Amino acid sequence: MPEKIVIVGGGFTGLAAALALARADPRPEITLLEAGAGLGGLAGGFPLCGTFLEKSYHYLLLGDTEALALARELGLGDQLIYRTGSVAIYDGTAMHPFTTALDLLRFRPLPLPDRLRLGLVMLRLQLMRDWRPLAGETAQAWLNRACGPRAMAVVWNPLLRGKFDRHWDRVSMAWLWARIHTRANSRQGGRERLVYFRGGFAALVDAMQKKLLDAGVTLRTGSPVARIETAPERRVRLQTGEALAFDRCLFTGPSDVFARLLPEEPALAAYRRQLGSVTYLGAICVILVTDQALGRHHWTNIHDPQAPFLVMIDHTALTGTDPYQGKHVYYLGCYCPQDSRWFSTDDAALLDEWLGYLGRIHPAFDRSRLGERHVFRFRNAQHVVDCGYEANIPSFRTPLAGVYLANFSQIFPYDRGTNFAIRDGLRLARLVLDDMATGPPGTHPTAERS
Ligand SMILES: Cc1cc2nc3c(=O)[nH]c(=O)nc-3n(C[C@H](O)[C@H](O)[C@H](O)COP(=O)(O)OP(=O)(O)OC[C@H]3O[C@@H](n4cnc5c(N)ncnc54)[C@H](O)[C@@H]3O)c2cc1C
Repeated sequence: MPEKIVIVGGGFTGLAAALALARADPRPEITLLEAGAGLGGLAGGFPLCGTFLEKSYHYLLLGDTEALALARELGLGDQLIYRTGSVAIYDGTAMHPFTTALDLLRFRPLPLPDRLRLGLVMLRLQLMRDWRPLAGETAQAWLNRACGPRAMAVVWNPLLRGKFDRHWDRVSMAWLWARIHTRANSRQGGRERLVYFRGGFAALVDAMQKKLLDAGVTLRTGSPVARIETAPERRVRLQTGEALAFDRCLFTGPSDVFARLLPEEPALAAYRRQLGSVTYLGAICVILVTDQALGRHHWTNIHDPQAPFLVMIDHTALTGTDPYQGKHVYYLGCYCPQDSRWFSTDDAALLDEWLGYLGRIHPAFDRSRLGERHVFRFRNAQHVVDCGYEANIPSFRTPLAGVYLANFSQIFPYDRGTNFAIRDGLRLARLVLDDMATGPPGTHPTAERS
């Protein structure tokens, strides 16, 4: 009898794990349960202008080797489009190009000595190979010392506050180092190269879905798992509306959600606390379709505390307008605490406020030329990586026999991303296959991650 395995979550971690398990010999019997209506998780798409677009902005970088290798392996090599990005900073009064070293030298909001100092610090961080000496210090403290208070006020504070809201001064410098490294490694000729899919990330999700269906994997969307427990005969029981039993369960949703699904047993209290110690932020993404061209930068960071959003992305500056029936497609986005008013404000009021601010950035912006507009809200979009974070990352194996956990909050020091989701989904599958080969559920220590 093949083992019965359930994967909870149809984002890239769950899809990659399912794909690797489906290739195993002997192949387990695999079911994937996804709460949402479609697959892809945070990178999931929806139909727009005759193609598919991610509900939140998504691109790959040149160093995203796992995702790029998987795309090629699934026959999507000729669907990958490589483009050069451009970045600007809007400081509440003016737009400042911020793509190249020359842009930094011309960046008027900072006095020249601070620009030079900032450039040298960026170079130093890029040359630094090891994040470990940075892990014990906050980004705020480290950057303040290295770049000085003016660069802090004009560049770093707005970025950190925009990304982490009230948690901005807790973030570890190791996280920022990793973020700078991944982006720097995607530069060619002094400019960032980004990778996207013809047909959006949906092209990759669809190719994975097809492989899974061909391999006989059961895929069920609209199936939120409400409870996970283990029975004495070592079977994992799930509740999704009906009771289901499996030999092993791979949970790939957020840690705080996982904690709520576990039994209230005292023996699990410390583990629940560990899971609950991750601070998650939400994200809001507005998508606008218009025949109006607004500016010339792909990515604009908004460094204005009055702004309701952190970033404006001209998606079609990267892809061109052809895939979208000749229309321009923009994202406006922010990260916010899960109790933020943006989760309770209705779409019309939110749009009114956000579009009002867009008119400040681009005075020519004309609401009457807007076509489709969409508001998407994500409760678990980003986690706060504070000092000492790595010591508290849970392993893939959990204290529940046969139950495993892999989600983006276990990625360190790099920021979450589809590439790492695929990497960890594959790693998790390897661990599960090793465990299957060496004993029944519950006979392995919990400590090892991969
Ligand atoms: C605004 C934003 C921009 C981003 N930009 C990029 C980018 O440019 N490039 C990039 O590579 N990455 C980007 N990311 C990160 C990327 O989206 C994630 O790292 C990646 O998609 C995580 O995949 P995952 O499978 O681990 O998690 P998720 O995508 O969160 O998938 C988990 C899935 O589990 C499901 N689930 C949860 N609980 C249950 C339950 N109880 N029962 C059933 N199903 C459940 C959820 O519905 C979800 O579909 C971005 C993220 C955000 C929010």
